[in-house]
Amino acid sequence: MKLKIDESRCKGCNLCVMVCPYRIFTESSLLNTRGIPVPELDRPERCTNCRLQYLYGRRLCGVCAMICPDQAISWVKEKPYEYHKVVIEF
Ligand code: SF4
Ligand code: SF4
Repeated sequence: MKLKIDESRCKGCNLCVMVCPYRIFTESSLLNTRGIPVPELDRPERCTNCRLQYLYGRRLCGVCAMICPDQAISWVKEKPYEYHKVVIEF
C-alpha cells in the first residue's frame, strides 16, 4: 500500500508531522492550490501500515489518518505493474 496526502483537503496543520513515530511527514514549504503548505513524505515505504496491512488484513497504526482533521491521509493499492518498495526500520 502507498501512503497518500490529498493536497486539495490538507490545511497544513502539521498534526501528522507531530504524531508519526517514524517521522514520515515533514514540514514543507510546498504550497497546494489554496496556498497551504502540505507536508512532504520522507520514505513512506517505512510506514507500518504500508508494509504490513496486507499481511495482517487490517489497518495498523493509522494514527496520522485518525488525527488528520480533514481526512486527507489515505492508503492506495499499488498498480500490478508498479514497483513495490518495502523498507524495515527498527
Ligand atoms: S500509519 Fe503510523 S507509521 Fe504510518 S505514516 Fe501514519 S503515523 Fe506514521
Ligand atoms: S494532519 Fe491532515 S490536514 Fe493536517 S497537515 Fe497533515 S495531512 Fe494536512
